[in-house]
Amino acid sequence: MQVQPEQHPEHHRSGMASERPRAILRLAVPVPLRRLFDYLPPAGMREQDLRPGQRFHVPFGKRDLVAVLVDVVAESPLAELKPASQCIDHQPIFDARSRHFLQWAADYYQAPIGELYAAALPVALRKGKPADHWAEQWLELTTEGKGLPETALARAKKQQELLQLLLSSGRQSRTALNARGLNSSVCKALIERGLAHWVSGPTAPPPMEAVEPRPAPTLNDEQRQVIDAVPATGFSASLLEGTTGSGKTEVYLRLMARALRDGHQALLLVPEIGLTPQTLRRIAARFPDFRIAALHSGLADGERARAWLSAASGVADIVIGTRSAIFTPLPRLGVILIDEEHDGSFKQQDGVRYSARDLSVVLAKNAGVPVLLGSATPSLESLHNALSGRYQHLRLRHRAGNARPPEISLVPILHQQLQEGFAPQVLRHIGETLNRGEQALVFINRRGYSPALTCDDCGWLADCPHCSAKLTLHRRQRHLRCHHCDYRMPEVHSCPQCHSRNLNALGAGTERSEDFLTQSFGNFPVIRVDRDTTASKQALDKLLEPARNGEPCLLLGTQMLAKGHHLPKVTLVVIQDADGGLFSADFRAPERMGQLLEQVAGRAGRGDLRGHVLVQSRYPEHPLLQLLLNKGYGAFARQLMEERKIAQLPPLRAMALVRAECEEPRWAEEFLVSAREYLQAMAPPSPELQYLGPVPALLERKSGRFRFYLQVTAEKRGLLQKLLAQFSHWAEGNRNRRLRWAVDMDAQELS
Ligand code: ADP
Ligand code: ZN
Ligand code: ZN
Repeated sequence: MQVQPEQHPEHHRSGMASERPRAILRLAVPVPLRRLFDYLPPAGMREQDLRPGQRFHVPFGKRDLVAVLVDVVAESPLAELKPASQCIDHQPIFDARSRHFLQWAADYYQAPIGELYAAALPVALRKGKPADHWAEQWLELTTEGKGLPETALARAKKQQELLQLLLSSGRQSRTALNARGLNSSVCKALIERGLAHWVSGPTAPPPMEAVEPRPAPTLNDEQRQVIDAVPATGFSASLLEGTTGSGKTEVYLRLMARALRDGHQALLLVPEIGLTPQTLRRIAARFPDFRIAALHSGLADGERARAWLSAASGVADIVIGTRSAIFTPLPRLGVILIDEEHDGSFKQQDGVRYSARDLSVVLAKNAGVPVLLGSATPSLESLHNALSGRYQHLRLRHRAGNARPPEISLVPILHQQLQEGFAPQVLRHIGETLNRGEQALVFINRRGYSPALTCDDCGWLADCPHCSAKLTLHRRQRHLRCHHCDYRMPEVHSCPQCHSRNLNALGAGTERSEDFLTQSFGNFPVIRVDRDTTASKQALDKLLEPARNGEPCLLLGTQMLAKGHHLPKVTLVVIQDADGGLFSADFRAPERMGQLLEQVAGRAGRGDLRGHVLVQSRYPEHPLLQLLLNKGYGAFARQLMEERKIAQLPPLRAMALVRAECEEPRWAEEFLVSAREYLQAMAPPSPELQYLGPVPALLERKSGRFRFYLQVTAEKRGLLQKLLAQFSHWAEGNRNRRLRWAVDMDAQELS
């Protein structure tokens, strides 16, 4: 293994420079060390062929790893360098801006730079598959072809269509032509007439399913003001706070159109469960003549590599993706849009713990382009940035088209006779809605049959053997499952401890409610939507088909139903239990509860019919709940902001966690005690800088490891950064091999 430059003072290599080739490769190698590694060029590779952004195979210990060239330097402080084994790419696959951006992110999140490059790459490229593997054939007009009028081939319909396409949109990849039904015989006909020829060129995005182009609606005044307020060029950051159904997506589409018209690429980031076929269809229908690359976890490795390369080479015009798409190089980037910016999935919770939403602002600044963060329920972080003037604050207060805001009522359930968790009046409302031919949606924030299985005779409780958590009963799959580590055991019908058969499933999840609602409203389809019924994005799309067709039906599900779906026939939304976030130990719980309730409620009445929302609660008088339901999320969030200010919590202060986990709890705790001592020796506690902990994480044990954290909050982010950079350096050298530690900058979860 080779050592980092700064540990080896200059004089080690005195007098040796002349014996070496002048070029030294400084590479980002995917290992958990916060530094670059120096290598010699592979045997036989010429210096002038070296370009930062290329990948190389390198020997690392006994392994062969795929590393990215970050810099070519003339000297290394190391006396002995090994050569890289092989160069993978002729052309760099990371451009200068994305390399700079990745370095920035590595520094900010205290992450190993090699791991960041690995996170940026799709799996196939991470493993070293050459980009050339996806090189494409492109059909291009010859000079003669370019000189023809559009109607020149009117007698051969297909050839005419092809000619028109090439004249209006320029060269086309073979994949794109096939997807349009223009097969190789049509191409051949044009080539034989001397009008076109094949050239080899960069990867094109995988073709999308064909959709009918749909024209844009006329903007309303609010939308037009928002669009006009976002400058077309130069860096700007804006928060778009717009009610559900107010036409935010339409604003994104217009800003994308503007960038595309100017020859730029548009990047749209969406939450993990928001990248549905419905979303893609909507965009494809608006931009039939542009190349769209979708980057999400549902793609096969090869498809994902293709989409990525088409974005990185500048061929794709529109890039839509979940959080890791922020690391895709986009040489023609012109605008960044973040949909549902409050969504937790923009923050990665393990490995490199970055926030794609926060990074989008950094990237926009680097590229000198506008970024727009949109949400009906903005995060307190973004709201703070908007209220303090760091972001431009844009609003859409009214629903677009004819839709009116829903009417919301609280249903107290404390001393009520409930049926499987539902108040009688709620069941009556559901029945009436269905009988009127409309749709109802029931939101239950818990999957499975029941969240706890217990023995009524001896008190046995089904616990996960690896986590401090209970097992959830999944009756359909006949097993008990841990939602934290995925441990499974077969469903039991007698108590493992006392053999009694008096087992009791406590509480209801989506499966149990599905059984009950099917019994009660069996004449109508009952559609359950949760992670267990929607293994793929396509499954969700299919499941929702009857709902989209407008038939009366009853939808029930988890937060998967809260986002993105536009179902105009839903007129009743029931929130079965609103109390989840009111008394949690996590200071962000009320914020998340508010966002979820507002988003779910926003599914009601998105068409011409007025919507109703019924919210069941045991604490209908709770001031936060009252504020949320009477004044809406905006007022609710501003109240939470006041509370955070008093408690000196984010977003009013910067916060980072130093996390440690270990099978031996003592070691994790001791590591954090010494971490605190180390940090305090550099920067003692003061009003500007506070330490808390070490304390056990909310989920104290997960997958057999005990988890603790040390919380550091600071008035200035810069100070926090500097301290943690030093700390990471120190911790890297003081490591117990069985202990895992990480810095979680701007941590979102205390679990
Ligand atoms: P949001 O993203 O804010 O939830 P959408 O952009 O999905 O809202 O818009 C909600 C509905 O209103 C969609 O059916 C959309 O087509 C429609 N819509 C948006 N803008 C307009 C407009 N200016 N005129 C008519 N309908 C519109
Ligand atoms: Zn028992
Ligand atoms: Zn577990």
